[in-house]
Amino acid sequence: MSLLAVGTVAFDDIETPTGRAEKVVGGACTYISLAASYFVKPIRIVSVVGDDFPADMLHYMEHRGVELDGLQIKKGEKSFFWAGRYHSNFNSRDTLDTQLNVLADFNPVVPEHWRDAEYLMLGNLTPQVQLSVLEQLTKRPKLVALDTMNFWMDIAMEDLKKVLAKVDVLTVNDEEARQLSGEHSLLLAAKAIYKMGPKYVVIKKGEHGALLFHRGEDMFFAPALPLAEVIDPTGAGDTFAGGFMGWITKTDDTSFENMKRAIVYGSAMASFCVEAFSIERLKGLTPAMISHRMQQFAELVRVDFN
Ligand code: AMP
Repeated sequence: MSLLAVGTVAFDDIETPTGRAEKVVGGACTYISLAASYFVKPIRIVSVVGDDFPADMLHYMEHRGVELDGLQIKKGEKSFFWAGRYHSNFNSRDTLDTQLNVLADFNPVVPEHWRDAEYLMLGNLTPQVQLSVLEQLTKRPKLVALDTMNFWMDIAMEDLKKVLAKVDVLTVNDEEARQLSGEHSLLLAAKAIYKMGPKYVVIKKGEHGALLFHRGEDMFFAPALPLAEVIDPTGAGDTFAGGFMGWITKTDDTSFENMKRAIVYGSAMASFCVEAFSIERLKGLTPAMISHRMQQFAELVRVDFN
């Protein structure tokens, strides 16, 4: 099974209540592909960077089974840059700066031999680019998931609605679900978003876990693992999406029951992500470490009613 992923590959400046990191590797597609690489290979990415992006990071991604034929490297240009500052609860943040740079006029090209992708993760970036990638495919993937954020709702809502109408799964955080739907109740928000296109809506609630809605009716909840120390929540949502789609692609099963497992795998991968700045904690994980974390999730909610 193959997974095609789209999204930013970027530099971030991050400020948390306990520390800061400058010009570190980030980007939705970076987190998605590294997280998914623990489940399935190859991961194929469509994205763009400037020639300021470190070659050793690209080599590391290749080493993890990420194929870069769809990554454009623009000579003399700068990579996408984002700066954010987290509030004292680590759960909400302010965007301090977004510099589109190479993303401003990015024209994505899906390599010919990738156009029959079975699974597609449209990670966070310009909705127009997400739509263009979807339209270049020669057959409809078995499952298309979309992640986005308030930034695009603010400046490109119409394009976002066009792409939303064509996807199966939407992953957003609770604030974004409310902004997109105009509903405060997350149940009503999920029902409203279902009417916009996606059969499945995943609402991420940071340290309070994630909700999965199917057709605005069936519901599932997975908690987040309580951790002694959170260092940097950046990329947790993308890592979640990478784990989620990595599991679905590996198992080639898009049933609601399997999506529940995927939600827990996504949550487990996100729990690693927040333990260090940038993508550092997503390096060098082992199957044993991931399966131990899955056990911790299972224990967290296991209860005997007899
Ligand atoms: P998350 O914490 O999962 O929302 O993802 C944070 C990552 O998304 C950072 O590494 C940023 O580089 C990237 N990012 C921030 N803003 C945007 C945006 N408007 N579009 C695409 N990617 C973004």
